[in-house]
Amino acid sequence: MFNRKTKRTTEFTMTRRKFVRSAGAAAAVAAAGMPGRSLAADELPRLSEDDPMAKALQYVHDAGDADTAKRTAGSFCNNCALYTGSTEDEWAGCNIFPGKAVAGKGWCNVWAKKPQ
Ligand code: SF4
Repeated sequence: MFNRKTKRTTEFTMTRRKFVRSAGAAAAVAAAGMPGRSLAADELPRLSEDDPMAKALQYVHDAGDADTAKRTAGSFCNNCALYTGSTEDEWAGCNIFPGKAVAGKGWCNVWAKKPQ
């Protein structure tokens, strides 16, 4: 009744089932966390000035509140090379703070002029 051929078929079926299940899970994880997938700026949570890294880099939502001795006049997040939005965006991503939005009129001490 339970010969060798039947056993192999059963083993194969279980292995195939496991494979399909794990492949499905892997695809779901990949879709959720794909590095190339980026959230729109309005979907990103806003960076808090109290975030430890924001504090370390002296990030402020309003560049006018920045230390004037360190900030170059006219430097804002929206003209920084690391800002992922356009100059018109009020909030957008920043390559220094992945997964967070920074204020277009903000600033931090990593600011680097956006190439023209
Ligand atoms: S790196 Fe540039 S865009 Fe990011 S917070 Fe600092 S000044 Fe703003």
